Amino acid sequence: MRVVHSPLELQSLLKEEPGSIGFVPTMGALHLGHRTLIETAKKENDITVVSIFVNPTQFLEGEDLDAYPRKEEADQKICELSGVDYLFYPTVDAMYGEDEVSLNAPDVRGYIMEGTSRPGHFSGVLTVVNKLLNIVNPTRAYFGKKDAQQLMLIETMVANLFMNVEIVPMDTVREKDGLAMSSRNVYLSEQEREEALNIIKSLRIATQMVMRKECTAQEINEAMLEVLKPLEVEYVSIVNRAFMPLTKVEIGNTIILVEAISGSTRLLDNIWI
Ligand code: AMP
Repeated sequence: MRVVHSPLELQSLLKEEPGSIGFVPTMGALHLGHRTLIETAKKENDITVVSIFVNPTQFLEGEDLDAYPRKEEADQKICELSGVDYLFYPTVDAMYGEDEVSLNAPDVRGYIMEGTSRPGHFSGVLTVVNKLLNIVNPTRAYFGKKDAQQLMLIETMVANLFMNVEIVPMDTVREKDGLAMSSRNVYLSEQEREEALNIIKSLRIATQMVMRKECTAQEINEAMLEVLKPLEVEYVSIVNRAFMPLTKVEIGNTIILVEAISGSTRLLDNIWI
């Protein structure tokens, strides 16, 4: 595995690679969720590239940019053992300059749900993902459905900017008890983690209601909020794949999303129905 810090160096190295390139962008503190993306990228491509970059432009003032878990050595080992070919580890200065061109998230879909609690977050995400995709120029790039709004906005960016990459959505990997794996789970105390399980509980109740054909969004929303009471709920949203609100669940075209805070940790989860 080759570890590369310079964007231009990586770009020229990858230009020489004749086969398909699978790319997994991450912010590090790698867990089984990331590893599943990496393994799939390996299976589906000749070369696998992983980036680790805690992108400052997607953190708002007062958020956890400085505290965000950084585990350089362990991450490098995981990538090596997973058979990654190139690990891209840029510095902030290598990725950003002064007075730059940047991308804006769409006015509506970039500022609802997570975009309401974190205005501007998705502009930072799209700007850095655009940079990373331009550096790596992958055949396929792998993103988790756990970050469903991010995935939708990246797919929208790729379509709007006519970018030549296949975006591959990947299912959410969970702990045994159902908690969605996340680098931020390390912030949770035992009690906060216990409370966080209400998120998956609420999504399971939503699934049961859909199976019993109790499909109005309002009923599902109310039942979920009841279960989520111990947490500070940012939103429960029931939308179609284009992120338009639904009044009734449409099987095969619905995402039910939750964002809730346990202690001071923001947790996201969702189910695709
Ligand atoms: P992050 O390092 O949190 O920015 O995540 C990097 C990529 O891994 C993103 O595409 C995430 O959606 C994805 N990801 C994070 N957690 C999970 C998970 N539990 N299951 C599947 N994918 C995940």
